[in-house]
Amino acid sequence: MSDYRLDTICVQSGWKPKKGEPRVLPIYQSTTFKYDTVEQMGRLFDLEDNGYFYTRLQNPTNDAVAQKICEMEGGVAAMLTSSGQAANFYAVFNICEAGDHVVCSSTVYGGTFNLLGVTLKKMGIDCTFVNPDDDLETLSKAMRPNTKAVVAESIANPALVILDFEKFAKLAHSHNVPLIVDNTFPTPVNCRPFQYGADIVTHSTTKYMDGHAMAVGGCIVDSGNFDWEAHADKYPGLTQPDESYHGITYTKKFGKAAYITKATSQLMRDLGSIPSPMNAFLLNVGLETLPLRVEKHCSNAQKVAEYLNAHEKIASINYAGLPGDKYYALAQKYMPNGTCGVISFEVKGGREAAVRFMDSLKLAQIVTHVADARTCVLHPASHTHRQMNDEQLAEAGVSPGLIRFSVGIENPQDIIDDLEQALQAI
Ligand code: PLP
Repeated sequence: MSDYRLDTICVQSGWKPKKGEPRVLPIYQSTTFKYDTVEQMGRLFDLEDNGYFYTRLQNPTNDAVAQKICEMEGGVAAMLTSSGQAANFYAVFNICEAGDHVVCSSTVYGGTFNLLGVTLKKMGIDCTFVNPDDDLETLSKAMRPNTKAVVAESIANPALVILDFEKFAKLAHSHNVPLIVDNTFPTPVNCRPFQYGADIVTHSTTKYMDGHAMAVGGCIVDSGNFDWEAHADKYPGLTQPDESYHGITYTKKFGKAAYITKATSQLMRDLGSIPSPMNAFLLNVGLETLPLRVEKHCSNAQKVAEYLNAHEKIASINYAGLPGDKYYALAQKYMPNGTCGVISFEVKGGREAAVRFMDSLKLAQIVTHVADARTCVLHPASHTHRQMNDEQLAEAGVSPGLIRFSVGIENPQDIIDDLEQALQAI
């Protein structure tokens, strides 16, 4: 754990050069690593020694960046993955198997909704989606004896629901399971979920962390706070010997690092969603300026939200920085310095007006992305959430006319001028 503050960690943590080594994190663009004896490498395969042998499992560039994100979140161990999807998949699959069940907020990103509701279901892991605004008693009805985790997003994409962390942590912990929180949108600059009871944090680093729309990536961070041994019967994968690793019991051998060690040495070994060292390097460059960019994204978004909120052609707007927003109080409690740069809103005139408006934008461009330096825009019902039926769209907080607008770090007046000319076109 670092004693430095977050903006210092973003610049200085991770890569620690020794005498004569490069100041900048090197890209270890090598699939493999050399040893002098058969015995030396054998001990690595047995997890008896620390060291690198094959990049599918671990790579020094990737590990330095994972270490930085670990410190940013205040965790005990972390790993990078090749995408945010892989991070969320590993985070759940590391502690669930066929016959198990998870509870997930219905407002999560469409890809996570599909992953849990469709793909994991095919693997025998069931998911109940819950309305994050329900009270604890109602939410508790979704929990089952075979529930192994509660999953949510700190700021839901694109409904921009702010997670009531304390309620969700109570839900998970009163049923002896961990709370997994996808912290992609606020990033640790604006919210550190471990402070509010989350046990595992995931990221799509593709978004603000990279920040320049250059490299798809993900990360999982473990707080080390969940006591797997205390609920050993629920988590045999961590608390019973792993026959595929010569009978190692992760909790006994690795203590607080058990969860990430298992995800690395077992899931990464077998499923192989490792980022390229080059992508990890690019992510590290992004992390160095993350606090500066997040602050600018948030101040720009606040100005844009206030402008839209006062506009006669806007039917509704979601941005927790607006005092009238449904989630303003939760945002003040959990993210007092700001939420994120993403706003969602509806123009009057529904889906057709939304499409005409988007096609008229000039500076803001239509891309399947969010949370990078350039202002961009997307129509969830036609794009990221296209696979959902109307009922699922409503549960996800996505109306047919909803527009997701990701405010970049350009001059805010230029963004507002672009919005104004596009609103005049409808
Ligand atoms: N989680 C959230 C909140 C997201 O917004 C996304 C992508 O938009 C993902 C996870 C998936 O991440 P990736 O696209 O890096 O696989």
